[in-house]
Amino acid sequence: MATDVQIAVRKVSSVNPATGEILREFEAAGEQEVQAAVAQARAAQTAWADLGVRRRIEVIREFQRRLLAGKSEIAGVITREAGKPLAEALTTEVLVVLDAARFLIDNAWGLLREEPVSHGNLATKLKRGRLLREPYGVVGIISPWNYPFSIPATETLAALVAGNAVVLKPSELTPLVALELASLLHAAGVPEAVFQVVVGEGAAGAALVQAQIDKLVFTGSVATGRRIAAAAAERLLPVVLELGGKDPMLVLDDADVDVSSSAAVWGAFVNAGQACLSVERCYVHRSLYAGFVEACAGKARKLRVGDGMESGTDVGPMIHERQLRIVEAHVEDAKARGARVLAGGLRLRELGTNFYAPTLLADVTQEMRIMREETFGPVLPVMAFDSDDEAVRLANDSDYGLAASVWTRDSARGESLARRIHAGTVMVNDVISCFGISEAPHGGVKVSGIGRSHGRFGLEEMVRVKYLDTDRMPGMKKVWWYGYGESFKRQMEGFLDMQFARGLASRLRGALRAAGVVTRKKL
Ligand code: NAD
Repeated sequence: MATDVQIAVRKVSSVNPATGEILREFEAAGEQEVQAAVAQARAAQTAWADLGVRRRIEVIREFQRRLLAGKSEIAGVITREAGKPLAEALTTEVLVVLDAARFLIDNAWGLLREEPVSHGNLATKLKRGRLLREPYGVVGIISPWNYPFSIPATETLAALVAGNAVVLKPSELTPLVALELASLLHAAGVPEAVFQVVVGEGAAGAALVQAQIDKLVFTGSVATGRRIAAAAAERLLPVVLELGGKDPMLVLDDADVDVSSSAAVWGAFVNAGQACLSVERCYVHRSLYAGFVEACAGKARKLRVGDGMESGTDVGPMIHERQLRIVEAHVEDAKARGARVLAGGLRLRELGTNFYAPTLLADVTQEMRIMREETFGPVLPVMAFDSDDEAVRLANDSDYGLAASVWTRDSARGESLARRIHAGTVMVNDVISCFGISEAPHGGVKVSGIGRSHGRFGLEEMVRVKYLDTDRMPGMKKVWWYGYGESFKRQMEGFLDMQFARGLASRLRGALRAAGVVTRKKL
C-alpha cells in the first residue's frame, strides 16, 4: 500500500522584532542546496578572478553608487528586520559599508598587486623574488543578525575585490537584509554565481563549513565559533573567527564626567546593547564614581525606547525573546548579589514583547555574571577602582579580548594604559567607532577570535600569498649543491663568516676562505 511520505521542510521566518509582524518566510536551504551553491560559485570564480583587480574595483564603485542612491530603502529594511533605529541603520551599517567600498576603491590595487622581494642573503642574491596575492577561490561567510548589513557586506567586498566568489549564510533572523546586499551587488555587475546567499539556520551554516569552500569567515558567538573551529580543523579549512566581546571602559580620575558618561550610555545602549563592541563593563575611578553613575542614570532614563522606524527612537527592540532572557538572568544575578538598579531593570511590555529598558547597574562586582559573560543587551554595569594598575588588572580579567576604551584628558597616560590591555583594539576617548574606520583592523584576542576583518589585514585574509622565485642565472649550478667534502666545509664556514661575522677583518678572512665555494665544480 502506498503511503504519503511527508518530508519536513524547515522554514525560516523574517520577523520585525518591534511588531512581531512576519515579513517573509523562506524554505531553509539544505545540504544539497548549499553544496550546489558552492559548486556554482567555484565554476564562476575563475572568470571573476581573470577580470583583474582594476575591473573589479569598478564593480565595487558601482555598488557604492547604488548603495548611496538607495541608502534610505536599505536602512528601512535593516530597521524593519533587525529593530535598530533608522539613524543607526544609516550610521553603523550604510556609512560603514560605503566607506569600506571607498577604502577598497582607493587601496585594493596597491595592496593586491605583485610585490618584489629583495634578498639579503648573498647565496640568493641572484634570485628574483616576488609575492603574489591570489584569491582562495570560494569564500564562505557566515554572519550574525546584529549588524546584518555591515558585517557581511564589508567581508564580502574584500573577498570579491580580491577575486574570490562568495557564498553567504546570513543569520536566520535577518535574511532579507542579506538578499538586499545580493540585489545591490548583482545590479552593480557581480555575476549571480559569484555572490550567492543561502538562507537557513545553523544547519545550513554547518553544511557550508563541510562544503568545498576554500576559506571561511565566521562572525558570531564564541559557542558557535568553537564548533566551527573544530569542524574546520578536520579538513584544515582556514578560518577567520570574529566572536563575542565583553569590552571594558576605563574612566580615569582626570576624565571629563559629562563626556565619558555620554559615551558609556551610547556605548552600552546603541543597537539595544547588541553589539560585539558594546561597553559591557564600566570601571570608574572612585573619585568620580558617584557623579558618573548619577550622570549615566539620568541620561539612560531620558532615552526614548520604541520602534526604530519612528524617527525619535533612541533604542529599539532586542532581536528575540532568547536574548531578553539572557539579559534578565544577568540582571537578576547582579541584583541578588547586591548591585543597585538606578535605571531600567525591566521589560517594557507595553511596547511589545522584545523591549527592555536601558538599565544602569551600580556597585557591581567582578564575580557577577554581568561582568563575566557576554550580556548582549541594554545594560551598563559600573564599578569603582582605586588605581590605574587595578583598572588594567580588572580590564584584563576576562576570557574575552575584543576591544576596550580608556577615558582621560591626558592622551599619553591613556595610550600607556592602552598598551597594557589585552584586546584587539583599544580606543582612547572613544567607544565602538573603530569598527567604522575602514583602515583599522577589526578582531580580537583570547576567545574573541582569530584573524582580522577590515582594512589591509582584512584584505590579506582573502588571499593566499604565493612566493614566486626566479633564478636569474639558469646556466649556473648552486653553491650548496653536491660536491661536499672537507674543502667544501671550510669554504662554507668562510662564506658564513663573510656574511655574518662581526668586524671587517673576520669578514674579509671569511671571503678569502669562501672564494672556492663559489667557483667549485658541482655535480
Ligand atoms: P550565533 O553564533 O548564534 O550565529 C551566528 C551565525 O552562525 C548565524 O548565521 C547562525 O545561523 C550560524 N550558525 C549557528 N550554528 C552554526 C553551526 N553549528 N555551524 C555553522 N553556522 C552556525 O551568533 P548570533 O547570535 O547570530 O550573533 C551574536 C554573537 O555574535 C555575539 O556573541 C556577538 O558578540 C558576536 N558578534 C561578533 C562580532 C565581531 O566582529 N567580533 C560582530 C558581531 C557579532
